[in-house]
Order: sequence, then C-alpha cells, then structure tokens
Amino acid sequence: MSKPFSIAIHGGAGTILREQMSKDLNEEIRRDLEKSARAGHEILAHGGDAMDAVVAAVKVLEDSEHFNAGRGSVLTHKEMVEMDASVMHGEDAKVGAVAGVRHIRNPVELARDVMEHSPHVLLIGDGAEEFAFGLQHTYTEQDYFVTDRRYDQLQSMKEKGLFALSESKYPDDSKHGTVGAVAFDQQGNLAAATSTGGITNKQYGRVGDSAIIGAGTYAQNGNLAVSATGMGEYFIRKTVASDIAARMRYLKENVQQACEAVIHGELKAMGGEGGVIAINGDGEIHFSMNTSGMYRASIGLDGRLMVKIYADE
Ligand code: ASP
Repeated sequence: MSKPFSIAIHGGAGTILREQMSKDLNEEIRRDLEKSARAGHEILAHGGDAMDAVVAAVKVLEDSEHFNAGRGSVLTHKEMVEMDASVMHGEDAKVGAVAGVRHIRNPVELARDVMEHSPHVLLIGDGAEEFAFGLQHTYTEQDYFVTDRRYDQLQSMKEKGLFALSESKYPDDSKHGTVGAVAFDQQGNLAAATSTGGITNKQYGRVGDSAIIGAGTYAQNGNLAVSATGMGEYFIRKTVASDIAARMRYLKENVQQACEAVIHGELKAMGGEGGVIAINGDGEIHFSMNTSGMYRASIGLDGRLMVKIYADE
C-alpha cells in the first residue's frame, strides 16, 4: 500500500474569457495542463521526491509554447526573453532561484541546480548562465523562446505604453501564463516550483515574484507548499506565499482560509491581480484566484485528475 500523495499545477492567472478562447486552443491548453500534472504524479506514484515531481511538471509547461515560461515567454521592452524561476523543498528550507536568464531552456532545472550545486540561493543574468554552462545546461538561442504571438502582444503593449500580465485585460488573443507546481510526496515532503517570462513590456532587468522565495514560491513540511501567479510587484510587496504559510502556521487557518484571506484581501484591495495553488501538510489541495481564470490542474489524494481554466468552473 502506498502512502498518500498529491500534486497541483498552474499555467498562469488573469483575464481569461470564454468568448476569447478558441476551441483548439482550449483543448491544447487543457491537454498540456494534464500532461504536466501527470508527469509529476507519475514520479510521486513511484515514491519519488516532491522536488522531482514539481520540476518535472513545470518542465512540461516550460516546453509548451502555450505558457509564459521557457518557450513562449513574454518579451521585455527591448524585445528579449528574460526568465525567472525558483524552487523550494519543504523538508529543510532548501531553496534555489534564478532571475533574468536568457539562454537557458529550462530555468526551473537551473533553479534546482542553484539549490543543489551552489552555496547560494539566487543567481542572476550572466552569472546564472555562466554557472549553468558549467553544469549540464547548453546555450539556447533567443529564437527558441520567442513566438510570433508574444511579439505581437509586445507591440500592442508598446503602443499603449503599458506593461501587463500575459493574461491581461488588454486586447490580446494569447491567453498564456506563468507556470508552477506544488507536490506532496509519500515521505510527507512538500515542494514548490515556479517559472516565468515575467510580464509583457517589462523593463530590461526587471525581476518578478517568481524568482523570490516567500513571494512567488514557498514550501514548509507539515504546513504548506504554494506557487503564485499574478502581477509580481504586488506579490513581492505582500510576500504572498510566506504570508499564506504564516497564517496557517500561527493563526491555525486551514489552507483554504489562508489562501482566500490573502488573495481576496489586501492583495486584491491594492490592485494585485492573480492567484495561487497550494497543498497543505496532509496533501489537500486548494486553488485561489481574484481573476476570471487560472489555468490549473491537480491529481488529488483520491487519484482523480481535475483540469480547469475559469474561476467559475
Ligand atoms: N508573476 C509573474 C511576474 O510578475 C507573472 C505571471 O504570473 O504571469 O513575473
């Protein structure tokens, strides 16, 4: 008899509207979300570690051009892809993160390498890439990451002089977002991972919450694993991920109460749109968003797959 395990993943939150979603895109996105959840679940089913599961799940979404991470990342004002990622293991508060990387195919793997093979927790830009090339990572051209949709999306934001979430309320037919995963393994470990291209038309050098432990990513065994998506500046200012964990730890709120209090509370009031996926210390999953949708999937303690896009699903 195996012990309980569960996984949840997300592909970004934002203004995701049914009327703007084509049938084909809807199917392709749901297929990728399922593939991601199953990739992580398979590892957990074989007794693997929660960290291996979240990295495998996020990698699937980084490799899909439908999401704002890895291939298909949004573009900076200078028309470059600059990606952020972070991971956290809940057993011993081990963390790794990278920011502003441009030539790394799977930033989530590099974040884990920072955790496992460096004495540091966050590496940025050229330094992160130099570290990567000293390991197994190969140089990947920008062309690999850049898609026509993201280029068009940037031009539209530039014309308006705005920057925006990939799932923004501004006219844009590419509804794709930041990705993340949280998992609970058979040993009782929790882990979280998040990866992103950031926000469209961002300034060169801008770093969002996905690279910041305690803002976009957090995991603590016996308590919570959480991965966020949304306007990163707000998630950093409100330290969203660690705030949810603290509410559970100190106020003894359950995972649902803590997530809803943060996402629909001060974060929303100050204009921070977005959402989180979370798993508590018993493997129970909760999704929370203050947007019209969040691409998400889970395979719960009962082994059942759930794939959803809209908030009201
Ligand atoms: N949180 C990401 C950032 O601000 C964006 C997103 O979730 O789509 O970089």
